[in-house]
Amino acid sequence: MKINSNRLQQHFEAMSLIGKIGDTGTCRPAHSIEEKQAFELAASWMKDAGMKTHIDNFGNLIGRLEGANSMLPLLMMGSHLDSQPYGGRYDGVAGVLCAIEVLMTMKEQGIFSERTIEIIAFADEEGWRFNKGLFGSRGILGKLEDGELSRTDKEGITREVALKEFGCDINKFKDSEYALGSIFCFLELHIEQGPVLDIANKPIGIVSGISGPLWLTVKLKGQAGHTGSVPMPLRKDALLGAAEIIVALNQIATQVKENPTVGTVATIKVFPASRNIIAEEVEFTVDLRDIDLARRHLYERQLMDKIESITKKNGLTFSIHEDTNSEPRYCADWIKQIIKENCEKLNLDAPELMSGPFHDALALSYACDYGMIFIRCKDGISHNPLEYASYEDLALGTEVMYHTVLDILSKNT
Ligand SMILES: [Zn+2]
Repeated sequence: MKINSNRLQQHFEAMSLIGKIGDTGTCRPAHSIEEKQAFELAASWMKDAGMKTHIDNFGNLIGRLEGANSMLPLLMMGSHLDSQPYGGRYDGVAGVLCAIEVLMTMKEQGIFSERTIEIIAFADEEGWRFNKGLFGSRGILGKLEDGELSRTDKEGITREVALKEFGCDINKFKDSEYALGSIFCFLELHIEQGPVLDIANKPIGIVSGISGPLWLTVKLKGQAGHTGSVPMPLRKDALLGAAEIIVALNQIATQVKENPTVGTVATIKVFPASRNIIAEEVEFTVDLRDIDLARRHLYERQLMDKIESITKKNGLTFSIHEDTNSEPRYCADWIKQIIKENCEKLNLDAPELMSGPFHDALALSYACDYGMIFIRCKDGISHNPLEYASYEDLALGTEVMYHTVLDILSKNT
């Protein structure tokens, strides 16, 4: 192997101490002190690899290695260093640390690039703090939506305030955007976050595309009343309505067992949340994903019908806010081919698979060709302190990434 697997492991171990919870968990919220510390550590390694670093106005950490030919659009790699509130050590981290290892290896091997190379640790990929993800990767492409800066976290802190405290200038977003055509391609290595590779006993997978997530926030309104006195037929119980909708979504997503469709309600807010008051208002999130957009649209319509009939039956009113609506995005065939060839050279039988979770690559897919390498993770567990990928698998993936980068750099130069 050309890459240094010991160094890669040391980097993972050092990074895992920042925002550490329990023995193996991580909590690094977006735009937080912990994320800043993670950036400082990653930036020190980027500098070792010969890169210049800065944090842009979206709160992204960017490492840049200037190429000999400034006319060539750049090769970008990266992922994220923020984590879920109760997350693991590999989600996002793998894509940043492996990219840094690729650059360190290139430096050691005396390989110079005509093309400028950037590594980005994107801000707020995870999306839980302000209930909207891919902030940094959408930001650099000018794809933020109205009202994003006024979204608040659980403490009532707005994105705007969090960004300012992080050192970003929200009036200078334009300075941090990338012009159309300035990115040649984007590469992201990520743990699979699902069980397919583990079950198949394969360390590496080649991603074919990212299925499109639909995120909704649904609000139901009924009527509060004393739980001891309001007779059952007269109730307008918003929580009962929510429960029926949650079950209905599960039935919709599983109506054809073989399909990869997934539908989830994972957060719920109840008002006034007293054990002896009938719930007046309930707010919950919906997450619906499929690689087949037409099918996802069909299931979305079925869900809307259910929400209408269930709220009517229970005497409720409802409102729905669409937080995210992405279509499936496919990886570039030519990049998949290069990854495949490099897997074969290492005697790796790497299957192709779709990504159910979205990644920063989803945002970048609108700006350039992209490719993704998946690393097997134990039992498919992710967004959980038990998340685990072996250092052997991560090193193999990094080695594939290294040769993939060299092959891409040898093109058009
Ligand atoms: Zn991730």
